[in-house]
Amino acid sequence: MISRKKLIAGNWKMNKTPADGVALVRDIVAAVGKQTDVEVVVCPPFTGLETAGQALEGSTVKLGAQNMHHEASGAFTGEISAPMLRAIFTTHVILGHSERRTLFGETDELVNKKVLAALKNQLRPILCVGETLAEREAGATLKVVQTQTERGLEGVNKDSVGSVVIAYEPVWAIGTGKVATTEQAQEVHAFIRGLLARHFTDAVAQKVRILYGGSMKPANAPELLAQKDIDGGLIGGASLEARSFVELVTAAIAAK
Ligand code: PEP
Repeated sequence: MISRKKLIAGNWKMNKTPADGVALVRDIVAAVGKQTDVEVVVCPPFTGLETAGQALEGSTVKLGAQNMHHEASGAFTGEISAPMLRAIFTTHVILGHSERRTLFGETDELVNKKVLAALKNQLRPILCVGETLAEREAGATLKVVQTQTERGLEGVNKDSVGSVVIAYEPVWAIGTGKVATTEQAQEVHAFIRGLLARHFTDAVAQKVRILYGGSMKPANAPELLAQKDIDGGLIGGASLEARSFVELVTAAIAAK
């Protein structure tokens, strides 16, 4: 069986000034910036990307953005493109986060354009999928996740899908303190891996990292990270403090 390197990514959302971000990155780098057992990514807001990137230089911690536009340049006021992110050494980009989908109207079609643009520019997309509480209660979880995954990956070929990271984030668990049970999470992760095997190959499906996101904390992480198909976490709230984020990285190292 292929062993996938676990990945812990911090989504800072609209938090931290550039100076606050540098201070946080310095603490993270001091604690886990040399280890190579687990891949660690921090995703500051756009204004803090460059300075955070400078602060993590020489460490193993990588830089991610929280969104981007699918065009390379042009009249798109307020937007940032993949080449702009690459120019400041960003390696990852979160796409299709539920907050982008619900608050900013992002559709599967738009998210797919972004995924393709990210791959074209050698950025690793962290494609977020997940059901709302109403969808879970209606028994539609797997259908929703299937649609978002398939549409999000449309046009991605089997040679590049290994660069994609998928984050399963049940919307009802994001920022709410409610966590999916390990069984609920593992079921969906295994389902996504099965979908990848069906659409690509089993070998490809075994390579793709599938993260869990939704109120992951040091207390619940070890059990989630021990699941066969859970390859790490996309962390919101607990990524804003070095101590809890580092504890999550440590839990991932222990679970590797
Ligand atoms: C997120 O927004 O991606 C997330 C998982 O947030 P939280 O950890 O705060 O639930």
